[in-house]
Amino acid sequence: MFIFSHAASGYIAGKVISRHKILEKHRQYFIVLVILFSLVPDVDGINSPTVAGHHSIMHTPIFWIVITLFLWIIGGYWNSSKLKMISVGVFSGSMLHLVTDWITARTVGIQWLYPFSTINFHLFPIFPGQGQIPIIEMVQDPYFTFYMENTKLAALEIGINVLVIIILIRNFFIKS
Ligand SMILES: [Zn+2]
Repeated sequence: MFIFSHAASGYIAGKVISRHKILEKHRQYFIVLVILFSLVPDVDGINSPTVAGHHSIMHTPIFWIVITLFLWIIGGYWNSSKLKMISVGVFSGSMLHLVTDWITARTVGIQWLYPFSTINFHLFPIFPGQGQIPIIEMVQDPYFTFYMENTKLAALEIGINVLVIIILIRNFFIKS
């Protein structure tokens, strides 16, 4: 999934989840956190020479489960609703990233069962050979055309961004 679509899906998920009563008090912070952590797993791309090779431990659920469980436990121990909110926000954003990367995998999947298994899971067939390019070239051809050849994924990527643009325009006019 492309970076704008990750942010857009984070915004929608953040808005939906933040309706929960326990998150009401920190609603705006929560949405920002979900957007931020729907992007953070791709930080491993900075150190990777290729698109297909960029999935490190940050693209495995166990990494985020350990971190957020730790934050949740400390939050409970300190009786801090803020820390619990942060834990839920980090968990929601990072898991959303993994799920959307799994759905939109074109060259590398998600190792859901890591460290017990290194099987790469992907919804559609993947073509690792097409991902032997630097991350920056994802938005250029030939990768961009290759990615968009899967019309379901192309529709999803475009649709989610259009949806968020419509929501933002609506918010702008309604709240002003
Ligand atoms: Zn990713």
